[in-house]
Amino acid sequence: MRALEGRKIVVASHNAGKLREFADLMAPFGFEAKSAREFGLPEPDETGTTFEENAYIKALAAATATGLPALSDDSGLVVDALGGAPGVYTANWAEMPDGSRDFMMAMEKTEAELQKVAALDPQQRTGRFVAVICLCFPDGEAEYFRGEAEGTLVWPPRGDSGFGYDPVFLPAGHARTFGEMSAEEKHGWKPGQAVALSHRARAFQKFARAHLGVV
Ligand code: IMP
Repeated sequence: MRALEGRKIVVASHNAGKLREFADLMAPFGFEAKSAREFGLPEPDETGTTFEENAYIKALAAATATGLPALSDDSGLVVDALGGAPGVYTANWAEMPDGSRDFMMAMEKTEAELQKVAALDPQQRTGRFVAVICLCFPDGEAEYFRGEAEGTLVWPPRGDSGFGYDPVFLPAGHARTFGEMSAEEKHGWKPGQAVALSHRARAFQKFARAHLGVV
C-alpha cells in the first residue's frame, strides 16, 4: 500500500449527489478536496464493463490532469432478478435523448423490468447498491475499496432525500428507503463506528482504515 502524502486530493466525479456524500464523508479528515468539476475537467467515457474498470478510468483521468491523487467512485444498483442489471449501466438507464438524466424514468424502467419477470414479492426483488472507490496516483498506481449495501426494491418510490435510485431502495433490516433517510442515516459514519449503512460509506470506511489511520 502506498502512503497518501498530504491532504490535497481531487474527487473524480461530476455527480452532485456523490460529491455531497464525499464532502460529508471527508469532512472529519481535514482534506483540501476539489472536484473534477471544479478543476474544469471533462467527464471521461466510462467504457469499462466492471465497477473497478470505470472507477479507474475516472480516477486516472483526474490524477493525470491535476498531478494530485484522485478518489473516484463508480457505483450502481445490482438487481438479482434482472441478472445483475442495471449494474455498471445504472446511470445510463436514466439517460434522455438530449443527454440529461431522468431518474424517475430510470426507476420506472427498473420496475417495468421487474414486472416483466413477475418479481412482485420482496424476496424476489433483492439487490444491492455497489460502490467501488478507486484511489489513483498521477503515475497510474491504484487501489480499490468496495462497499455493498443489501436491500430490496420497492414500488412506488418513497421519499425525496438523496439522489438517483434512493427512493426505491429499502436497505435490509430497515423500514425506510434511502430516499426517506437523512444524509446522516444513509451515509453518516464516525470513526469508531463498526459498519456504515450505505455502499459508498462502507467503501469509504475501507479507504479511511487503509489510509487515514482510522481503526
Ligand atoms: P456512475 O458511477 O457514474 O456510473 O453512476 C452510478 C449511478 O448509480 C448514479 O448515477 C446513480 O443513479 C446510481 N447510484 C449510485 N449510488 C447511489 C446512491 O447512493 N443512491 C442512489 N443512486 C445511486
